[in-house]
Amino acid sequence: MEQDQLFERLWNGTAPMEEWTQAVSDGAVTAISENIISVHTTYFCGCVTVIRTTAGLVFIDTAKPDTAGKTLAAVRRWDNSPVHTVIYTHGHIDHTSGIGLIDEEADLRGVPRPRIIAHRNVLRRLRRYEASHGFNTIVQGQQFNFSGYVYPIGQRRPDEVYDDTLSLTIGDEKIELFHGRGETDDATFVWLPERRVLASGDFVIWVFPNAGNPRKVQRYAPDWAAALRRMEALQPEVLIPGHGPVIFGAARAAQVLGDGAEVLESLVRQTLALMNEGRSLDEILHAVSAPAELLGKPYLLPKYDDPEFVVRGIWHLYAGWFDGNPAHLKPAPAAELAAELASLAGGEDKLAERAKALAQAGKTRLAAHLIELASTASPASADIQAVRARVYAQCVSAEASLIGKAIFEVYRRDAAARSSA
Ligand SMILES: [Zn+2]
Repeated sequence: MEQDQLFERLWNGTAPMEEWTQAVSDGAVTAISENIISVHTTYFCGCVTVIRTTAGLVFIDTAKPDTAGKTLAAVRRWDNSPVHTVIYTHGHIDHTSGIGLIDEEADLRGVPRPRIIAHRNVLRRLRRYEASHGFNTIVQGQQFNFSGYVYPIGQRRPDEVYDDTLSLTIGDEKIELFHGRGETDDATFVWLPERRVLASGDFVIWVFPNAGNPRKVQRYAPDWAAALRRMEALQPEVLIPGHGPVIFGAARAAQVLGDGAEVLESLVRQTLALMNEGRSLDEILHAVSAPAELLGKPYLLPKYDDPEFVVRGIWHLYAGWFDGNPAHLKPAPAAELAAELASLAGGEDKLAERAKALAQAGKTRLAAHLIELASTASPASADIQAVRARVYAQCVSAEASLIGKAIFEVYRRDAAARSSA
């Protein structure tokens, strides 16, 4: 009952997702039907959906090491059968890395470990995580401001993979897997045709789509929109998002899927129209915008990713890295450019002074350019670093998205440390 009231407040935008995260933190079970539950522990970890079949339990995703224990305990209060199959909706660690606990439980009970099914590209992703382990540790630690963070690798690989679609019958349950590209290139959404239940994975995450993350590999905005349209056409009665509460009712499910598709389609359409006219990336970034009425929906707020980052992602999907500015084709070393401009301005202190004034006037974008030039021209100046820390504090405040805030915060901390050295 409590949950239902909270859902209504999330739906109409009067409750923040933080309140929901607090409410589910002990491991909250949502009954989808007599034989299906979803378990949530926090917004920041993928949810786990469990289907009870005559052959055993089917898990959609696994949570991660710090949430899988609570999740598994909640499942076990509901049903004690062995886990027959685990479906990874994609290879991100908050969906796959709880498999270790599920396997451990199977070993302790002396039953076979579950079979894992996923899209073929999950294998490629898990190999890539090993090749770029240092980089992923750094960027993930920075994005969520975890110190001493180590990116978890080595989770168990899928036993079976598929390419486009896969129809399964497990016990008495029909389960259909569909592949689409969105936040990742290895994504699956799961459709239970006899129950009209859809588990969308991270195609639906109760915020604006994470389709432009600046420090992560390519995301696929147009494919993401197409996958949402495909889900809409299935006409689900229940929509289980990858993150955030379950959405009941055909009309609400259709609304969330349709609005998500529309906001991405709009960005793709605008970006491509300008690219086809030969406009530069700079012109496009400052001309394209997401429709305000969609960005205002409580399930599409740009709190995690930023529509501007998504425009860059769309550019990068159709073009190479060159942005249309000839100075960026073979740029001079940043330190040489900074020294030249500092000298023209009458010294790096002048650049820093102007950066401070611009930031105070709310022109944080311009301020960031100037303070970075000053800092690069005179990296040892504690005074310049003090201004730099203030400029980036203002940049953090100016951002709506977690990712934008997190990246500026990394450089604010760097400047603050150097200003007192
Ligand atoms: Zn996720």
